[in-house]
Amino acid sequence: MALLPILHFPDPHLRTPARPVESVDNALSKTLEDMFETMYAAPGIGLAATQVGIDRRFAVIDVSEEKNERRVFINPEILERRGSCDSDEGCLSVPEYFDTVKRAEWLRVRALDAEGESFELEAEGLLAICIQHEIDHLDGKLFIDYLSDLKRRRVRKQLEKARREARAEARSY
Ligand code: ZN
Repeated sequence: MALLPILHFPDPHLRTPARPVESVDNALSKTLEDMFETMYAAPGIGLAATQVGIDRRFAVIDVSEEKNERRVFINPEILERRGSCDSDEGCLSVPEYFDTVKRAEWLRVRALDAEGESFELEAEGLLAICIQHEIDHLDGKLFIDYLSDLKRRRVRKQLEKARREARAEARSY
């Protein structure tokens, strides 16, 4: 297993809509393992392939406290959404920034699991929010896209400044 580098906003790859997975093979199984490891290490509750520079439609999620409920969504598709809720969100690709966005409260999703079997799932609460957040990634969308332009520009400046400072520190050794 290996930790994968997570791309950060405004990396243009985060804006690329991912293409469907054609076959669930050993290479994909290995990547899924790496993604779980990367997600747990971050730590995060979800990670989409887009965030690690892979242009394919799949994501891993574990919203449990004990970190023992691995869920894999390959070629996920939301079939139905209901309700609306305020979601306090962050994103591994937009580090250290949190804000409130609107999400559907309940949804029904269809996807393939890690074995390539099709399943349907009804989800609400944090799991429903996380599924929406990860599918947005696969469509090239970030949670900060739901904020005003002004706020998004501010986030971008903050991240660019943090990156410059990190580089300056790296050079001082
Ligand atoms: Zn995210």
